[in-house]
Amino acid sequence: MKKKRTIVVASGNAHKITEIADILKEYDVISMHDAGFDGEIVEDGKTFAQNAEIKAKTVAKALNVTALADDSGLCVDALGGAPGIYSARYSGGNDADNRAKLLRELKDVKDRRAHFECAVCLYSPEDGAIYGEGATYGSILEEERGDRGFGYDCLFLSDDLGMSFGEATEERKNAVSHRFRALKDLEAKL
Ligand code: IMP
Repeated sequence: MKKKRTIVVASGNAHKITEIADILKEYDVISMHDAGFDGEIVEDGKTFAQNAEIKAKTVAKALNVTALADDSGLCVDALGGAPGIYSARYSGGNDADNRAKLLRELKDVKDRRAHFECAVCLYSPEDGAIYGEGATYGSILEEERGDRGFGYDCLFLSDDLGMSFGEATEERKNAVSHRFRALKDLEAKL
């Protein structure tokens, strides 16, 4: 049997690594920790794609391997695309604080359209970078609905699913998620 090519994911998130391995089935997908990377990554890009490239390149160069990274966030139309690349640190607190801040910012705002965006970057020291991008559309609820998922999931009413990401099973969310779409976009370019 032909040996699978290895891709090191520049993330310590086991859930993300499983999701990526499920999509990129022709590759042996392992985490950066299992590959021996324990350095620091400074994410100071201005876009999702720049941040994904910074993460992938740092790990690829340190270990001399092909590395994959993603960067994602929530973009709200009425807030000019915020919180965007700052989604994880929007309030300075945890996920619940971030959601509370979002609801405050959207108090009495009628146009609640929003989307999650994701950029992925596959970087190899020989061939450089290949990018993928994906988005999933919906609107911000007036109150939390569902208790699944993470981040802004229970405030995001998905156009595709007709329910919040917090109400959807992992399987249903993953079938329409920004990350899934970005990985599919990348896969088509490999
Ligand atoms: P990361 O790219 O996985 O680090 O995600 C950045 C931040 O964006 C997360 O901490 C969440 O606040 C938000 N985010 C990204 N993807 C999702 C999602 O699928 N559901 C809910 N929140 C998300």
